[in-house]
Amino acid sequence: MNIATWLEQAGRANPDAPAVGLGMRVAMDYATLAGRAARFASALRDRYGLVPGDRVALVTKNCPQFLEVLWGSWWAGCACVPVNAKLHGAEIGYILQRSGARICIAGGDLGDDVAAHAPVSLEALVRIDSADYARIFEADPIPCMPVAGSELAWLFFTSGTTGRPKGAMLTHDNLIAASYAYAAEVDPVRAGDATLLAAPMSHGAGLYIMAHVLGRGVSVVPESGGFEAGEIFALAAHWRNASMFAAPTMVKRLTAAREEADPSAFRTIVYGGAPMYVEDAVRALDRFGPCFAQIYGQGESPMTITRLTREEIGDRAHPRWRERLATAGVAYGNVEVAIADEAGRVLPPGEAGEIICRGAPVMPGYWQDGEATAKTLRDGWLFTGDVGSLDEFGYLSLKDRSKDLIISGGTNIYPREVEEVLLTHPDVREVSVIGRPDPEWGEIVIAYIVGEADAATLDALCLSQIARFKRPRHYRFVEALPKNNYGKILKTALREIDQRDSACNDAEEKG
Ligand code: AMP
Repeated sequence: MNIATWLEQAGRANPDAPAVGLGMRVAMDYATLAGRAARFASALRDRYGLVPGDRVALVTKNCPQFLEVLWGSWWAGCACVPVNAKLHGAEIGYILQRSGARICIAGGDLGDDVAAHAPVSLEALVRIDSADYARIFEADPIPCMPVAGSELAWLFFTSGTTGRPKGAMLTHDNLIAASYAYAAEVDPVRAGDATLLAAPMSHGAGLYIMAHVLGRGVSVVPESGGFEAGEIFALAAHWRNASMFAAPTMVKRLTAAREEADPSAFRTIVYGGAPMYVEDAVRALDRFGPCFAQIYGQGESPMTITRLTREEIGDRAHPRWRERLATAGVAYGNVEVAIADEAGRVLPPGEAGEIICRGAPVMPGYWQDGEATAKTLRDGWLFTGDVGSLDEFGYLSLKDRSKDLIISGGTNIYPREVEEVLLTHPDVREVSVIGRPDPEWGEIVIAYIVGEADAATLDALCLSQIARFKRPRHYRFVEALPKNNYGKILKTALREIDQRDSACNDAEEKG
């Protein structure tokens, strides 16, 4: 079935219920959102000549129009290609070309950049603040197009911490499965419950929209179009039962914010997308109380592989509480998770290997990339590229991406383990541990630190908690760590920086 059926139903059954918020006010009720999606679909078909299966690119920072374009594309039976507005024009151009999108809807401020990099395959570029965009909604509404659940709905370009982004094909069935899993196992959504869309809607946060339409919740876009701690506190206090998806860096900023705010205003803060260190989770719990849930997923299995529930995160009395806080929880009910060795054989509990999974949310493959699909989907399993292990209870510990693993003197060292220790120091704000090629050891451990602590203190801290061979040989104190547009630390870039710097230092030492 077409997932837009959910919106069609909501428009009929709950026309006056708030559907979209902008800042403190209701921007659209369900009748309006459904009506605009139906008109958008009509214009796609009759004015722009799109047919079911065609792609509609959407490049904008978070705004209410995102929702009408997303649902309107589905309503027409087309697929939507949301693109992160923070990407460079050339990167946006690449995604437009790769996806073969026939039309692109762009935020007003981005129109020139998109136009400058638009491929010839793009037939129309419509700016959200233009008369053309307004005219789209003068079209007569059409009924929601029937499409099979196996059809493409969302072409989800991976965040590309290495190489070119790949388009994970998410079908209507994948999105339905992910939304059901979220509502059943992370956070049920009831009429009027708000989700604050502060993280990019083109990515993780956007996937919460569907569960909220299903439950007749309100998708609230901050006026700033992004994440500002003060604004988030005000929105959480204003809207009922506010929840939000927040990357770990956002949770850290909310925890550290000095604003006078009612920390109990949040119903749920869902974190994921990058490692949440135990110390950071504990600080967040101290400030906000037990309102956290964790999810582990990736574009290829949208936000749905494992989850750690509010109860598990909040249950300080549990004998394994801290241990479990360091994990990403257990598999969702509609996903099987296992650990595989290099030959693809399933490993027993306790052994580390590549995390693999299969189930209803998993993509059928990458867009027009048979080679990448064959590498990633093998024997019905999705090979996530993440390294981890399952304990005897089924809790998944994420180690590091296989390429981030450090092998020193023939022994594996997981950077995350060292990072967890360093972060327990109160003057360490951020840390990233990498391997540097070394003629004697293969690799040696280097820690990049944002904060005021000194190397000797950190060395003593490591010696008190982890094996000697794991402790960093060198510390580098920096103002900031290289991050991508989603706030994920780019270890590949850090390794390059480190290579350059160490070459300079060596030259100085020799000179
Ligand atoms: P993306 O496909 O861009 O959303 O990135 C997905 C990747 O983010 C995963 O493959 C993991 O490496 C990482 N990730 C997602 N959720 C978590 C989590 N809860 N803890 C640690 N890393 C995560």
